[in-house]
Amino acid sequence: MEFSFHNPTGIEFGKGKIKEISNLIPKDKKVLVVYGGGSVKNNGAYDQVTEALKDHEWLEFGGVEANPTVETMNKAVELVKAQGVNYILAVGDGSVIDGSKYLAAASLYDGDGWDFLDGTAEVQEALPLAVVLTLAATGSESNNLTVVSRKSTDEKRMYFSDHSYPQFAVLDPSFMGTLSDRQLGNGLVDAFVHISEQYLTKTNDLLVNDGYAETLYKGLVILAQKWDERRTLWWQENLMHICNQALNFQLANGVCQDWSTHIIGHELTAFYGLDHARSLAVILPHLIREMIDEKQDKLAQFGKNVFGIENDNEAIIKKIEEVFESVGVPTKLTAYEIDDKVVENVHNAFKSHGYLEIGENGTVTLDKVEKIINRSIAA
Ligand code: NAP
Ligand code: FE
Repeated sequence: MEFSFHNPTGIEFGKGKIKEISNLIPKDKKVLVVYGGGSVKNNGAYDQVTEALKDHEWLEFGGVEANPTVETMNKAVELVKAQGVNYILAVGDGSVIDGSKYLAAASLYDGDGWDFLDGTAEVQEALPLAVVLTLAATGSESNNLTVVSRKSTDEKRMYFSDHSYPQFAVLDPSFMGTLSDRQLGNGLVDAFVHISEQYLTKTNDLLVNDGYAETLYKGLVILAQKWDERRTLWWQENLMHICNQALNFQLANGVCQDWSTHIIGHELTAFYGLDHARSLAVILPHLIREMIDEKQDKLAQFGKNVFGIENDNEAIIKKIEEVFESVGVPTKLTAYEIDDKVVENVHNAFKSHGYLEIGENGTVTLDKVEKIINRSIAA
């Protein structure tokens, strides 16, 4: 076993923790508060942030959309540069956080920030960033991953940079009370797939990672079984905790990863606007079926330890589908209005992005991707 792990993001978890930001952000910083379309004004986060920043100089940038675009975030870059902002505070969901990670890096970069997304440049520096999370799902609040779209070309891309880790993240589950059932279900599914992209790969003898991943899976399965308790603080705080742990990349230590489901899902979102988690739920089960020769050993371990099912791949995959469906998230692309160009569109996007051999073994090739999508649209 060999790995390096350094996650510098401090976590402030619990009701009322937002007040910590007045001490954690140095008083001499000029802060830009970044948020989305307005939910922060209904769930109490905005008011509590303004209260906590009363001794700071700050300004705001609202209107970051779900699946944030460079078109929007470049307007924030101009604001940062014009106003001499030197600290970013993202208040909201994964989209606001990712948009803010991009903003923190692009504000100190001379070229076009899309260069980070298409891989032509690496982030060398970024403004300090902190987060107040209002939606449990992505884990973006304490990781080094940024996912941003470009509207003009229907592209959704991602990059990793250690400069993207927030300095700290406030996780107060009481802001989740205004989330819809759809958002709660989406969060559960996104976390489930995050665990899978780090766990459902080659078998290994890493007792800690496998055991922790299985514990997180079991937590999500319990939350799905107790879906009728989703409006309780118990349910929401557990979802927030699990989503955070699922993608702070601790699970990735020393293991193979396979981000194919996310990479295919991103194209579905870019072309057809599917919610992020919904794009994953229509791919993961079909990807496991298509790649079963490579996945079956770890799937067997998962089935046995999480669901108590032995020697039945299809029963395990069906159980995964049941978990997704039980929180209202469909597992077939036919649930959405998708045109008959879906396979061709994803094929062409993969080709132009150079995604010719993805997956843990480089075996998720273009023909496999087509087969996975075809499984999802088959009756
Ligand atoms: P999202 O899909 O961006 O959802 C945003 C929506 O949730 C907005 O309509 C927002 O409303 C609303 N919202 C946020 N907090 C709310 C609250 N407390 N009550 C009511 N509504 C609330 O959310 P997400 O799943 O967090 O983020 C998805 C994005 O993250 C995708 O782009 C995905 O690709 C990316 N992602 C990133 C990572 C990573 O590690 N960086 C990992 C996985 C996915 P307002 O606009 O009104 O605020
Ligand atoms: Fe995700």
